[in-house]
Amino acid sequence: RTVYVNGEYLPETEAKVSIFDRGFLMADAVYEVTSVLGGKLIDFEGHAVRLKRSLDELEMAEPCTKEELLEIHRKLVELNGIDEGLVYLQVSRGSDGDRDFVFPSEDTKPTLVLFTQNKPGLADSPAAKKGAKIISIEDIRWGRRDIKTVQLLYPSMGKMMAKKAGADDAWMIEDGHVTEGTSNNAYFVKDGVIVTRPLSNDILHGITRKAVLRLAEEAQLKVEERLFTIEEAKAADEAFTTSASAFVMPVVEIDGVALGDGTPGPIAKRLREIYLEESMKEAI
Ligand code: PMP
Repeated sequence: RTVYVNGEYLPETEAKVSIFDRGFLMADAVYEVTSVLGGKLIDFEGHAVRLKRSLDELEMAEPCTKEELLEIHRKLVELNGIDEGLVYLQVSRGSDGDRDFVFPSEDTKPTLVLFTQNKPGLADSPAAKKGAKIISIEDIRWGRRDIKTVQLLYPSMGKMMAKKAGADDAWMIEDGHVTEGTSNNAYFVKDGVIVTRPLSNDILHGITRKAVLRLAEEAQLKVEERLFTIEEAKAADEAFTTSASAFVMPVVEIDGVALGDGTPGPIAKRLREIYLEESMKEAI
């Protein structure tokens, strides 16, 4: 596999980043994951805009222009022959060659790394046909979940807790309300109304969330953005999650309670179809 590091396209075994890089030592880094379908990038613009926002919030320099980023994405997809898969991008603050809590001087260059993952069958996923079983766990993450940092230890632990419980994923709960999934935004549907938590610093502003809510409204589906409890979700007709790498994923079970008849719900299935169709039309 060919990867990209700071201006160079290299075999993955030759790519190098300093051990003093603040991404490595302090999780001082942000990332984006863009899906590739039919060799094209899904919602590149949305990811580029959110990346800029994450960088601004952390006073981190932009590593290059949006146009250059697009070119790097496209070149990696081409070099690695990706038809269905992902492009992972990470920008870290770099380093002055030592460890210090204080940010390094402004002329320190950020570290830009991109690589691809080949995922044949990403759109026509067996997991989406089955639907996901989820458990609920406490949300003990930091208070700026709107910034897409690489601090993913707790989400990783959450996925492990789910795995140990025989489930696929976890939704997190703070002050009695569901925040989001470990790597996705969370929704339930009751009496035809789609409910999801409103945007704030408490959750990631999902690129897929934005697209799916727009498509839902265009399809005349009712959407309510409000806080909700796990009990409401358990009593729902259906539920689902959204993310750039799994699109719309039906949820069929929460904390051992089956939703509806325990198979993917009609609204989740329809939104998945509409989302895939529309986003592939606009892919670049
Ligand atoms: N919330 C969290 C915590 C995530 O990690 C992700 C995936 N990046 C999402 C939501 C979904 O965001 P997106 O649709 O932009 O992938």
